[in-house]
Amino acid sequence: MLTIGYAAQTAKSPLAPFNFERRALRPNDVAMEILYCGVCHSDLHQARDDWGFSTFPIVPGHEIVGRVTEIGSAVKRYKVGDAVAVGCMVDSCQECDQCRKGEEQLCRQANTQTYNSRDRITKAPTYGGYSKHLVVREEFVLRVPDALDLAKAAPLLCAGITTYSPLRTWNVGPGSRVGVIGLGGLGHMAVKLAAGMGAQVTVLSRSPDKEADALALGADNLLVSSDKEAMKKAASSFDLIIDTVPVRHDVSPYMALLDVDGTLVIVGQIGPIDQQLTLPFVLGRRRLAGSPIGGIAETQEMLDFCARKNILPDCEMIRMDEINEAFERMERSDVRYRFVIDMASLS
Ligand code: NAP
Ligand code: ZN
Repeated sequence: MLTIGYAAQTAKSPLAPFNFERRALRPNDVAMEILYCGVCHSDLHQARDDWGFSTFPIVPGHEIVGRVTEIGSAVKRYKVGDAVAVGCMVDSCQECDQCRKGEEQLCRQANTQTYNSRDRITKAPTYGGYSKHLVVREEFVLRVPDALDLAKAAPLLCAGITTYSPLRTWNVGPGSRVGVIGLGGLGHMAVKLAAGMGAQVTVLSRSPDKEADALALGADNLLVSSDKEAMKKAASSFDLIIDTVPVRHDVSPYMALLDVDGTLVIVGQIGPIDQQLTLPFVLGRRRLAGSPIGGIAETQEMLDFCARKNILPDCEMIRMDEINEAFERMERSDVRYRFVIDMASLS
């Protein structure tokens, strides 16, 4: 099927219209028309080749919501017209211990990413959600609960699951003390989800400007990370801190905020971290961890949780041809709190 999307041809070129083919349906494939696609900071990182493993042309987009237009002969779970979603993965080996546990994001043979990856069968490049149509195997398609507004649900597919998963892994619930570093796309979802689980939530931001927003999103308070006095007062007062900062930074000042056995989980920056002082780790039995997205079953659990709790991202809708400006604004942290592309604007 011929479709249209927006691609970057090189790490230095802006995104521009790009015509390409989606594969003919395999028996277990679902075809969908994409209605909305969220704009993740990872899209910007990969379009600019910040991580050094991008292949071009690249069609970003892994926060995808759409409607089923066609199903393969063996598809059981979906029918034409269903509201569906796709996140960061479109395939995995399905056989290893991690896949069998429903942790496809940790597949021993590496999952296939929605874009900037290779199809497991044809080895053709995968292209993401900044496009009109998508074909994905049934096992990697999520169901969007009726209660969720389709125009706002897209960011749940990456920002939502990437913050939901560590909250679940570290057993956050009523009474947990959770810190969230960086109030952006992932950060604002971390606040809403942690508050929805009953935790006491603190935003750690570079400036006090976002305090009113932080409280409105469900946080109990905002701590300005450059305020040395306030940081000192907050020592040993968190069970879990989720770090969403997208650039290289020193995590030491945040480690000291963890209580005994507390964990700082990095979901943001992918790359070197500055040299760490081991003292706070050793003396406080604190942990530094990482976490990638979440499995398919957990992603469905998160969508259902959001539907039950009426949790949705704060979105700013843009047209497809506004994407380059949106990237620039995202780089300046000028987004409250997620851009979503209305794919009806692309023809
Ligand atoms: P975003 O919307 O741009 O938010 C990042 C936030 O970090 C900003 O709002 C800002 O918050 C803070 N920040 C930005 N620049 C900073 C700097 N120079 N120093 C300190 N703080 C800074 O980005 P996002 O979409 O949430 O993504 C965040 C990161 O997560 C990206 O690196 C992305 O690639 C990564 N990611 C990882 C996964 C995964 O599976 N682990 C999934 C998705 C995304 P304040 O203004 O409040 O300080
Ligand atoms: Zn993402």
